[in-house]
Amino acid sequence: MSAIESQPYGVSGYFRVVERVAEAARTAGRDPEGLKLVAVSKTFEAEDILPVLKAGHRVFGENRVQEAKRKWPTLKARFPDVELHLIGPLQSNKAREAVEFFDVIHSLDRPSLAAELAKALGKMEPGRPRPRFLVQVNTGREPQKAGVMPEKTAAFVRDCGESFGIVVDGLMCIPPAEDDPAPHFALLAKLRGELGLAELSMGMSGDFETAIAHGATIVRVGSAIFGTREPTG
Ligand SMILES: *Cc1c(COP(=O)(O)O)cnc(C)c1O
Repeated sequence: MSAIESQPYGVSGYFRVVERVAEAARTAGRDPEGLKLVAVSKTFEAEDILPVLKAGHRVFGENRVQEAKRKWPTLKARFPDVELHLIGPLQSNKAREAVEFFDVIHSLDRPSLAAELAKALGKMEPGRPRPRFLVQVNTGREPQKAGVMPEKTAAFVRDCGESFGIVVDGLMCIPPAEDDPAPHFALLAKLRGELGLAELSMGMSGDFETAIAHGATIVRVGSAIFGTREPTG
């Protein structure tokens, strides 16, 4: 075994996940090209992220604006074609930083945030690329969790466009940890179909194959690539 193959995570973890994503796509009769893998690098530092960049991966996810802004400028200077996804909850007072720093924001979930994002977009220099937006849906109806309630999703998506000029590209969910994720993925896929949206962001290390079977177009995978996180993450 080479040194790289003997390491469970990092580059070999990454390639194993790429293979599993492709296999799950084929099993579902889908083209693996139609699937985006977001490598979730939250809590990991440049030394862990760099090998995966060098292996050719360019799409990464972070859950905190400040942490991403600390880690990524140096890495982006070396790999300018990196695409960064914000997958964690977004405070309204960070909207400005978020629209300037991220390419995709997965956590749009309330009118007050849509209003701040619209304001922030209006203040951006003309010609700067705008992020794309996904609406987070609280499929498990968990009181402590972010996301719009399933039955409110259609009205919220419409409101984002009509009241705030924010085009929504798709939906995102994080099923409750203790639940079978399949019904949550099925619900999100149904809502996405009813709204005619393109993207379906669902599936993490423990369940991305199930998510792909249910039509995920974006999977967000952290620990299966980078290893177990410190509890603070
Ligand atoms: C941390 C996180 C992930 C990745 O979780 P893993 O189980 O490590 O793959 C995916 N999505 C969101 C929103 C996260 O916060």
